[in-house]
Amino acid sequence: MRPFSYVRAADAGTAIALVRERPDSAFLAGGTTEVDLVRQDVLRPGLLVDINDLPLDLIEDLPDGGLRIGALARMSDVARAPGVIERFPVISQALVLGASAQLRNMASMGGNLCQRVRCSYFRDPASACNKRDPGSGCSALDGVNRGHAILGTSDHCIATHPSDVAVPLTALDAVVHTSGPGGERAIGVDDFFLLPGDTPQREHPLEHGELITAIEVPGVPVARRSVYLKFRDRQSYEFALASVAAAVRIQDGTVAEVRLALGGVGTRPWRARRAEAALLGQAASAASFAEAARQELAAATPHPMNAFKVELAQRAIVRALTTLTDGDR
Ligand code: SF4
Repeated sequence: MRPFSYVRAADAGTAIALVRERPDSAFLAGGTTEVDLVRQDVLRPGLLVDINDLPLDLIEDLPDGGLRIGALARMSDVARAPGVIERFPVISQALVLGASAQLRNMASMGGNLCQRVRCSYFRDPASACNKRDPGSGCSALDGVNRGHAILGTSDHCIATHPSDVAVPLTALDAVVHTSGPGGERAIGVDDFFLLPGDTPQREHPLEHGELITAIEVPGVPVARRSVYLKFRDRQSYEFALASVAAAVRIQDGTVAEVRLALGGVGTRPWRARRAEAALLGQAASAASFAEAARQELAAATPHPMNAFKVELAQRAIVRALTTLTDGDR
């Protein structure tokens, strides 16, 4: 590991100023991904600014029934917060199904959104990787890409977004709040996670020195009836091959409201808007669920090794919707 400087910031203004003034600096929160990447020589910071003393760990219920989650709230604390379990079970479930208990106790919510991809070529400095070294190529395109994305890919990168909790946050239209050199701003989750396009090194629109302060989830009553399902090679401490966050309201036997997002298959948490549109007003039946899932995955661009994800994601959508509507059909 290369030597770097370390400083612990006492307030947000100082942390932002310290990072802002050095191009080779970065914030350090839980460090559960970042420290690995420094050890692997993928990240080479000259200065790490520890932000763990900042008062950004509150989990608050909002008047509209929503949530405000401080960026430094730990995954495990959010997963067991009563307001999350009661009103947003899909968020709690996604957090519990992510990583290991030890990692959930350390990892922050803001860091979770910024975690880097799990592509093994990205983590191997000897491999070509456009995300790590723009213009060098993508070793995964003709390499081992069983776990890679089938939605939102480009000729420059096919890495899957690794977060679980970002999937329900995408389904529920969460907003990421930041503070930075240009002041404060609120970024809708749709605009926060960028597609790789021809700039896969840019994963979010944060400027250097811009700090995530909180994540807000609007009051969404349909989320009370929600579920997160995750399919992976083993049942713990493993990333998703496909996952789905779903919330649905059935009225008179038809779908009156639905939120759907996919994980493990997209280069960003994937809002399944085609499936949502196909479901609205349709009978709550296994056939309509399957047709909506088919329409969503029609845009998939799989490789031979990960083509199985097309059917897996479709089945995941159907399983989630049938689970939620068991008593309504
Ligand atoms: Fe790098 Fe993306 Fe290609 Fe993986 S898929 S090697 S992260 S460019």
